[in-house]
Amino acid sequence: MLIALGGNAIKRANEAGTTEEQLRNVSITCEQIVGLIKRQGEDDRIAITHGNGPQVGNLLVQQEAGAYLVPPQAFDVVGSMSQGQIGYMFQQTLQNYLRAAGGRLASIPVVSVVNQVLVSPDDPEFLDPTKPIGNFFSREEAEGLMNTKGYVIDPPAGREYLDKKRTGFVIKQVVPAESSPKPYRRVVPSPDPIENVEGGAIKRLVDMGVVVIASGGGGIPVIRNEEGSLEGVFAVIDKDKAGERMAEAIEATHFLILTDVENAMLDYGKPTQRPINDMSLEEAEMYLTEGHFLRGSMGPKVEACIRFIKWGGERAIISSLERVVDAMDGRAGTHIHP
Ligand code: ADP
Ligand code: MG
Repeated sequence: MLIALGGNAIKRANEAGTTEEQLRNVSITCEQIVGLIKRQGEDDRIAITHGNGPQVGNLLVQQEAGAYLVPPQAFDVVGSMSQGQIGYMFQQTLQNYLRAAGGRLASIPVVSVVNQVLVSPDDPEFLDPTKPIGNFFSREEAEGLMNTKGYVIDPPAGREYLDKKRTGFVIKQVVPAESSPKPYRRVVPSPDPIENVEGGAIKRLVDMGVVVIASGGGGIPVIRNEEGSLEGVFAVIDKDKAGERMAEAIEATHFLILTDVENAMLDYGKPTQRPINDMSLEEAEMYLTEGHFLRGSMGPKVEACIRFIKWGGERAIISSLERVVDAMDGRAGTHIHP
């Protein structure tokens, strides 16, 4: 089973993200996961992936603020830092809970893997990035960044200066100017994950009974260059879609996406809104086309579930952390099946 953890498993929206706050959230999350492991059979396997949005955003701020003292690191390197930071917190907390549980659980090993995910250098996202990150800016602030830091504002798709490797300083207007004094935001490419680079090694660990934490933040995005060598690129891969690639790599039967809502819903945000308990592959594809799931949040989760079932997975579930055990028993969550 592969579990994909959303942002709220590590940092709540109203928190600053101190070490103490994050460890408290990670602790709540790990208690639930250990509850799940307790109910599993000895031969059942578990692997975990997680988001990194707020953490990688904060690390970027630290890079920029400290640039007068030490050189800021490239974005892919910062992504690897976030995997280390979050992986460490989960690894240690899970180890402590498993030890406390005793018996068979006390001897289950846990490890986090610094993990690359392959994308195509020809992915259209590199020529027209769509994923917004970080703060909102006014027109004046955006122009300030253009003049001082070399950002470009609303470039036409496909411009040459959108360097695939190290830059990507693009600002786009993401909401109409009338609706907000700060309608601009930085956008980065979000290419489709092709393959989990360390997937083979991760599978061997999982098969041995190790609880593996990997593909954090959607994985560190890499391309194969002309020589066939791996190279980091400036991008953010969707963590649910990358999680699905990891589920394939470990040949998971179940793919469990835990977020801050109990179900995927139809007519989301409308008075007719209603939870989906169960949907076939065909229904999931139909609802997706009809626009029930928002892009950038529920959309990619449902897309990842569809991909998993098409690949040969038995069951994909979208639910909340609090309902994880009920979701596994079929009493909660949105279930997608062949
Ligand atoms: P995560 O960090 O877990 O990936 P996201 O914010 O990306 O969290 O996705 C979860 C959010 O998706 C919910 O909080 C909800 O606001 C939003 N959402 C969009 N469309 C739907 C829908 N059809 N049903 C339920 N939630 C939806
Ligand atoms: Mg998300």
